[in-house]
Amino acid sequence: MRIFENFESEVRGYIRSFPTIFKKAKGSILTDEQGIEYIDFFAGAGTLNYGHNNEHISQALIEYIQNDGIVHGLDMATTAKKEFIQTFQELILNPRNLEYKLQFTGPTGTNAVETALKLARLVKKRSNIIAFTNGYHGLSQGSLAVTGNNQYRDESYISRTNATFMPYDGYFGDFNTLKYLRKFIEDSSSGVDLPAAIILETIQGEGGINVASNEWLQELDSICKEFDILLIIDDIQVGNGRSGEFFSFEFAGIKPDMVTLSKSIGGGLPMALLLFKPDLDQWKPGEHTGTFRGNNLAFVASKVSLEHYWKNDDLSNAVKYKENILKTKLEEIANKHRDICTIDVRGRGLAYGFEIKNDTNIAGELSSYCFNEQLIIETCGSVGQVVKFLPPLLISEDLLIEGLNRFEKAFDKLLK
Ligand code: PMP
Repeated sequence: MRIFENFESEVRGYIRSFPTIFKKAKGSILTDEQGIEYIDFFAGAGTLNYGHNNEHISQALIEYIQNDGIVHGLDMATTAKKEFIQTFQELILNPRNLEYKLQFTGPTGTNAVETALKLARLVKKRSNIIAFTNGYHGLSQGSLAVTGNNQYRDESYISRTNATFMPYDGYFGDFNTLKYLRKFIEDSSSGVDLPAAIILETIQGEGGINVASNEWLQELDSICKEFDILLIIDDIQVGNGRSGEFFSFEFAGIKPDMVTLSKSIGGGLPMALLLFKPDLDQWKPGEHTGTFRGNNLAFVASKVSLEHYWKNDDLSNAVKYKENILKTKLEEIANKHRDICTIDVRGRGLAYGFEIKNDTNIAGELSSYCFNEQLIIETCGSVGQVVKFLPPLLISEDLLIEGLNRFEKAFDKLLK
């Protein structure tokens, strides 16, 4: 289907694009060129935690530009950069007793992941990285090699030689998958090289909203400590408050060696960040550079978002409160159709998955039905079999309920 009808060339997009052209957006509402309003349960795959055109962020950006603030500063120290670092330190790291150095990478999540993998190998002088089934870390060479889904990789002949995949929590039902991991690491005849690092998401976003238990994460953390392996948590999608805490690993009480952040950390603008423990700073000057590291507009947006939403626990509490509404309604819908469908509802915070086990194609169809009800919702999972609920964290209770009612209506129509 061509969306841009009168254009000579078409742009490559998602497999399933929403068949309209969106013109503007505010909060949790997207409006298309016809003036039709859609509730956004996708939020730029976790980039718009503070909603579209958040008033505090927009205002700060307008003022910054009107006052000739620096837009691009490469590695120069700028006021915007200084203020972002100070705010991040005071409001995010200090209250959590986390001691990390900040490294601004290229603007996308993938860039932060590539940086983490490179630093881990450099520090440990080992090449293997352990990653997990269904994990998603990006689509460029290094990050793709640790992405646990062949569909993104095999046709492009990207090598997996420096990565070993292990089963994520729940992959074998109740079986503790870390027993395999420990054995493979301990046993020199297993063929698995001692890794420099283990990389994972605590809640797999693209992989289907699979939530690792706190106990599993704690055990993984102790394995890393025992065998001198670095633990990298990729918090690009479920960090920045989506889980109900600023960092998704806070629930497990662990302190990873490195953390990747992107998406909502820039308040909607492109920004990616690697946090790493200070003793890992073994880069030589200029060893890992790039032109668009640290976007000053994103620093401004990020600082103002942190100041407005992370000075106290209000946003965390609001996410947990709205999680309850979301979870209860999805379970109610699943229950209602129990006779004809087996549905798994899972997630944490405002990241939820709704998987219809009977047919892997239903989720994609359901997303189209939702579009017809003016609800934007995407799918995830190894074959796109899970409907993914990812509304802005600031969505009002009324809009959340209205969106869920639209979802229910769409599902009812689909099953008719
Ligand atoms: N890691 C995770 C957990 C992600 O969800 C994503 C993007 N969906 C990435 C890495 C890659 O980020 P980007 O698309 O910005 O490069």
